[in-house]
Amino acid sequence: MSTDTIKTFATADDLLALIQPSSGGRVINDPATGEKVGRAPEHSVGDLNSAIEAARAAQEGWAALGHEARIVALNNAADAVEASAEALAVLLSREQGKPLNGPNARFEVGACAAWLRATASFELEPEVLVDDEGGRAELHYRPLGVVGAIGPWNWPMMISVWQLAPALRMGNTVVLKPSEYTPLSVLALVHVINTALPENALQVVSGGRDVGEAMTAHEQIDKIMFTGSTSTGKAIIRSSADTVKRITLELGGNDAGIVLPDADPKAMAQDLFWGAFINTGQTCAALKRLYVHEDIYDSVCEALVEVAGQMPMGVGLDENNVLGPLQNEAQFNIVSSLVQEAKDSGARVLVGGNPDAEQPGFFYPTTLVADIDNANPLVTQEQFGPALPIIKYSTIDEAIEMANGLDVGLGASVWSSDKAQAREVAARIEAGTVWINKHGAVDPRVPFGGTKQSGYGLEFGVEGLKHLGQPQVISY
Ligand code: NAD
Repeated sequence: MSTDTIKTFATADDLLALIQPSSGGRVINDPATGEKVGRAPEHSVGDLNSAIEAARAAQEGWAALGHEARIVALNNAADAVEASAEALAVLLSREQGKPLNGPNARFEVGACAAWLRATASFELEPEVLVDDEGGRAELHYRPLGVVGAIGPWNWPMMISVWQLAPALRMGNTVVLKPSEYTPLSVLALVHVINTALPENALQVVSGGRDVGEAMTAHEQIDKIMFTGSTSTGKAIIRSSADTVKRITLELGGNDAGIVLPDADPKAMAQDLFWGAFINTGQTCAALKRLYVHEDIYDSVCEALVEVAGQMPMGVGLDENNVLGPLQNEAQFNIVSSLVQEAKDSGARVLVGGNPDAEQPGFFYPTTLVADIDNANPLVTQEQFGPALPIIKYSTIDEAIEMANGLDVGLGASVWSSDKAQAREVAARIEAGTVWINKHGAVDPRVPFGGTKQSGYGLEFGVEGLKHLGQPQVISY
């Protein structure tokens, strides 16, 4: 596909017209207003089986195209996403709730194009492991076959690209199963990407949990890329056991941030805020519990309250807003009850904690909770919403022990004016990524994955490509 043949979709309605079934389907409502966005097809396990069969038939031809042709296809897909970026962002905003503005819907669509391009650019050359008088051994990465990708509702487009781009790059074909809460975003994105790909290299099955379950047990799926909750991850490990499937699990997190006593509260407040509240807190690697040294505890709380007051929350299509609603009622109820429990325990709400019952939509206000016990459920459970507990500590050992005290370890951060000291603390934290003076900043070139019950397997970069290939040694 050359640049002049790129198809541009001007509006979200243009995209909806292409992806909605002619009748019936699941009605998807805007979480900010309750208004209908559109209808998504309700695909069945039978539809999944047909898609897998078609993916299997297409895989050999896709692999045979070779790396160069697949690189061109992924770059063309990135062009196509960019050409329809605003229509995609508006649809995403209406379905997911996240605002167009700020690090939200437009940012997510931009990241889709960036990840497609970056993934196209990585090279995974065969490695020569041994080459001496005794012989030669080479390590190659072959396509696995058909990859099943199952995604969540928080960053539905971007996470789909994280899964599909390396899978396609390595010569696999892909069947995606989006979250039942946000299927329209993924259907539209795949429609756009597919303008640059051969038929059946990439398909979407828009179904519920039963379809996800069937995918993970299916004999003709060679690998599952899963991003979602830890409990679903465990169910997938069980259901994929009989076929000894390869799986990458990007699961829940409860990331700790540790603010050392030498940090500058005012200088870091904005970055701390976005580390916790990006996507209104509905982010796997968001800062979900903040440990602050007692010497600067009050000034950090004060600085965060000030920043929180500058961040408007509201309907996503209003350009003023940078925070949106929770995506669904179940998530709203989780956040509400965790904050209520924290209040009942005597914790101090600095701001928020009082949703407006009259307001339509699943809006929960930006909430900061101080003087909270480390054993409180708002600290120990993944709130996945705009409510940050701030815990006071006295010694660094105590802070590290609290940070490492949970059975998850996706990301973490250390905040300090002294990078060397921050690095020493970082090395003692049990998390897949530890950021210094920032939180949650992912990069397509840098591997990302969890420790403990936050999952296993790596995404992004050349390491990510390796997880979508079958290693094969040739020895002679
Ligand atoms: P979820 O586990 O409820 O659902 C995720 C997907 O799994 C959905 O598509 C769902 O239909 C499907 N599913 C449900 N049951 C299944 C089963 N038994 N077999 C196969 N598929 C099944 O997660 P969610 O609520 O959509 O997402 C939020 C969670 O995802 C949070 O815990 C968050 O931390 C995590 N997350 C992790 C990352 C990461 O990179 N580690 C990124 C984003 C979100």
